[in-house]
Amino acid sequence: MAETKKIAVIAGDGIGPEVVAEAEKIIKRTEEVFGYSFTTEHALFGGIAIDEKGTPLPEETLSVCKSADAVLLGAVGGPKWDNNSKELRPETGLLGIRKELGLFSNLRPAVIFDCLKDASTLKPEVLEGTDLMVVRELTGGIYFGEKFRREGAGGEEAVDTCVYNTAEIERIVHQAFEIAQKRRKKLASVDKANVLETSRLWRETVNRIAPEYPDVELEHVLVDNCAMQLLRRPSSFDVIVTENMFGDILSDEAAMLTGSIGMLASASMGEGAFGLYEPVHGSAPDIAGQGLANPIATILSVALMYRLTFGYEDAADAIERAVAEVLDAGHRTADIAVDKSKALSTTEMGDLIAAAI
Ligand code: ATP
Ligand code: MG
Repeated sequence: MAETKKIAVIAGDGIGPEVVAEAEKIIKRTEEVFGYSFTTEHALFGGIAIDEKGTPLPEETLSVCKSADAVLLGAVGGPKWDNNSKELRPETGLLGIRKELGLFSNLRPAVIFDCLKDASTLKPEVLEGTDLMVVRELTGGIYFGEKFRREGAGGEEAVDTCVYNTAEIERIVHQAFEIAQKRRKKLASVDKANVLETSRLWRETVNRIAPEYPDVELEHVLVDNCAMQLLRRPSSFDVIVTENMFGDILSDEAAMLTGSIGMLASASMGEGAFGLYEPVHGSAPDIAGQGLANPIATILSVALMYRLTFGYEDAADAIERAVAEVLDAGHRTADIAVDKSKALSTTEMGDLIAAAI
């Protein structure tokens, strides 16, 4: 019997509780099939926590997360809280939880499922074999640098500063190399070293670290070129590592290669194996509570958790295979269905995938 692992479960808002319920079915199923053992503890976060506890990130939620081996998150936010003051916004909770849990990288795999190729705007032959991972730095760069306004010769000026230090770059670059070693051993480091000083430090740091990973093939790609190459030769990428803003933009671009936002998983990691796993999509208030949500992104987030936090490769593979099998058999939720009248509900899709494991 495997050691019992603890998963903090944060269902959140909108479709969050619906998709998380399906992911929990998958967790139970892998316990039965593979003999793994998990305890799950539910905690309030986001809009629902604002309503019930007066804060998006209650202390008890944080302590549940800190005592867990991994966190599974549904989605947070919605129109109900959009006009709240900053402290009472779900998004403030997200920044807070990342900071409190020391999560400095966001990992987004983009994988093409053969049967969904027609959902992408790219030609099937260009997409063929695409299986990449964007590793985005989460804590530094222009989003967190000093911001201010001042009077200038041309009227009011706005200033955003972009700051990175060597330690911040090193920790994420090491992580990206390690991820590449477990995949196809190719790393593309993306920067704008021809014009930005932060990018020059980024590139120097990558080059200094690279000899520690002689088995990984490294290329430096300028961000504008990378945006182009993602559409031209997506299958040639394995792991892409980049700073915060470039990663924000490129990870959305890479996501759309795969066709549907309802299919994409993500992980936020710090030092070590602890991680927070969530679907890339938001709380989708337009379809919440109707059983329409595609649970696959959240189910694939469980696979990512098994792989990155627990090292349960067999169960991770089984989840991914089950998803592919169910899709290959023609089963679809409404977001990916051609014939919407035959679309499955959230729970029907979850049941089929669980049964296929
Ligand atoms: P956020 O600000 O949290 O990113 P958003 O409004 O930008 O939220 P989503 O909540 O992801 O984006 O929704 C974007 C669109 O995609 C909506 O029309 C939503 O219904 C749809 N969508 C998102 N997730 C799913 C899903 N799991 N299944 C089906 N449709 C989804
Ligand atoms: Mg959005």
